[in-house]
Amino acid sequence: MGVFRRYDRDDVLSRTDLGALLDELCGPARGLGRGARWHCPVPDHVDANPSVTVTVGRRGIERWKCWSMGHGGTAIDALCVARGIDVKEAIEELGRRTGAVETDVAPRPRRTARRVHESPRLLAPAAVDYVLAAERLLWQPAGRRVLEYLVDERGLDPDVLRANRVGADPGPRTLRRATGLPKAGPGAVFPAVDADGAIVYFQTRYLTPARNRPKYGNPTSELGANPKHGWTRPAGGAAAEVVVVCEGFPDAYVANAAGYEAVALLGAATATPAVTAQIARQTGRRAAVLALDGDDAGRAAAQQLWTGLRRCGIMVVDLPLPSGTDLNSWVRAAHQVPDLGPPRPVPSPGPAVAPAPAIPTP
Ligand SMILES: [Zn+2]
Repeated sequence: MGVFRRYDRDDVLSRTDLGALLDELCGPARGLGRGARWHCPVPDHVDANPSVTVTVGRRGIERWKCWSMGHGGTAIDALCVARGIDVKEAIEELGRRTGAVETDVAPRPRRTARRVHESPRLLAPAAVDYVLAAERLLWQPAGRRVLEYLVDERGLDPDVLRANRVGADPGPRTLRRATGLPKAGPGAVFPAVDADGAIVYFQTRYLTPARNRPKYGNPTSELGANPKHGWTRPAGGAAAEVVVVCEGFPDAYVANAAGYEAVALLGAATATPAVTAQIARQTGRRAAVLALDGDDAGRAAAQQLWTGLRRCGIMVVDLPLPSGTDLNSWVRAAHQVPDLGPPRPVPSPGPAVAPAPAIPTP
């Protein structure tokens, strides 16, 4: 087996001037420095008012983000979407341009089945359109029924709903949509947002699901790849140095209302090692509180997360909820949001001790 040569992705990205690349792909920026904005490089997004900004992400790599449709990524993604080429071709092109040096790489013994995506696959523009339309409608008369469901029935905080771009789908007769989007009647639309704030996925919670039919509708896989989890944020912006991990968006919004950034697992069965590793990466140096449902599936997911997150050096506190409850119903019954307490700044060597939550009195 021979040795082949290739560019190192991170080396290529660190050498690339993303602003200059966007100038070339999208036309010159409007504005200068940190205020510079470009037209979106995604070909079928007519971004008449430039909505793309550039920030420096983790590990010093520049990222772009389209604020009107949620597109975004690295210089590699920009080149891929603008030129219709694949990740390998984009890395080679940028490597040649920046004078990066190819290094010897021993071929892998066997190709692994999982293809490596440069960043979460983009949510199709038709799906982003649906999420943005629903976001507007939640605050209009057409969305009133959904708003009442969220605020009156589930006790969610309107400011948190706004901060997380939650929407109202009044149903297919009122809101036209592309094929492949949920169409089983009115529902609340919960966007999954990545660490950069881009909309990468969504779920629609039907208000009146038919008997034996799913409560949630997802886009088809042609329109978006299910990230199995989504990040949610408190309304105020600055979040506590603790991340709460919940099942489903409504529970995450409850944690947001108490000032915590929260991860919504899209189903308890999704606490896979890959998902746990992604959560760990974005949790960074913060502690994690597990507030999963008080059923067998929730306890199994908590066990997986406990092990996986601690392996990544994250301090984990398990907050087992009373049997048969989730965070949303438990807090509703308790008429208060649990105070999870200030986090300890350094991971404790021994197993973390779960705070004993007061059992709500009915
Ligand atoms: Zn765009």
